[in-house]
Amino acid sequence: MNSHLTPGAGRYAPSPSGELHLGNLRTALIAWLFARGSGRRFLLRVEDLDRARDAGTADAQLADLSALGIDWDGEVVLQTTRAAAHEAAIAQLSSAGLVYECTCTRKDILAAPTAPHAPPGAYPGTCRDLTEAERAAARQRIAPRLPALRLRAPAGETGLGFDDLVLGHVVGDIDDLVLKRGDGTVAYNLAVVVDDAAMGVDQIVRGDDLASSTPRQILLQGLLGLPTPPKVSYAHVPLVLGPTGARLAKRDGAVTLRDLAAAGTSAGEVRAMLATSLGLAEPGESVTPDQLVERFDPAALPREPWVWGPASA
Ligand code: GLU
Repeated sequence: MNSHLTPGAGRYAPSPSGELHLGNLRTALIAWLFARGSGRRFLLRVEDLDRARDAGTADAQLADLSALGIDWDGEVVLQTTRAAAHEAAIAQLSSAGLVYECTCTRKDILAAPTAPHAPPGAYPGTCRDLTEAERAAARQRIAPRLPALRLRAPAGETGLGFDDLVLGHVVGDIDDLVLKRGDGTVAYNLAVVVDDAAMGVDQIVRGDDLASSTPRQILLQGLLGLPTPPKVSYAHVPLVLGPTGARLAKRDGAVTLRDLAAAGTSAGEVRAMLATSLGLAEPGESVTPDQLVERFDPAALPREPWVWGPASA
């Protein structure tokens, strides 16, 4: 297939954990600009695995994206509707001998001696090579809690690199990551990889706080036979910082569209402010979403975090 005739897709994948703030909105706008600027479809996925009951929050998030002028193609995908595909991926890894049960608590993991050359914080491998009898005993010991499922990562490989459109070459840790938690929730890393591939996403733009998860996700793509870079491109974009220099948070003042509207700033003015922060508009200039797509140049994207203060509004 000629990839020029079948452009892929970009996406934004918010967790419905509250209203989107300026940092989230700016990342969404950048993801939309990357996709629209490259002729891709733009898809939305609500990552509600942890928060299936927060559906109302997701609606408010979608309304805010629309108000900014961010549009998307097709139906919004709710991650909780994708359980069968997540289970199928775990079964596929399991039948390749790449899944094992883990009964460790966080405390067990912290207390265990780390393997030589293992990246800091990596799972120490306590449950990796237990016999069937040892596993049965461990299961019994933690009942009624259930074991988590972990990936048996390739032995001896502790790092994986990829080329990021913003960060350049990034090398990050890989380890025996959790695929499914003891409470039955499928892990973010597994779900994101399975869902992006199923949705035809080949351009992943998100906050740079997630860059360290990407090597684990690329490892999973490879083991599941899904497209890996360079077929999938990554752009991890700088976060927005609050006036104290820490990552922007709701306590930093009027940082949601609702707060800003209450303070007299319209969604169009917020779009203009975000555009200015991206070097796509002059301060105070009002811009349409189409103008932003025309002006957007991925190579000119600011590499530094944007520090927001009430004076930016
Ligand atoms: N749901 C994640 C978040 O809101 C983003 C996942 C992703 O973009 O891969 O932080």
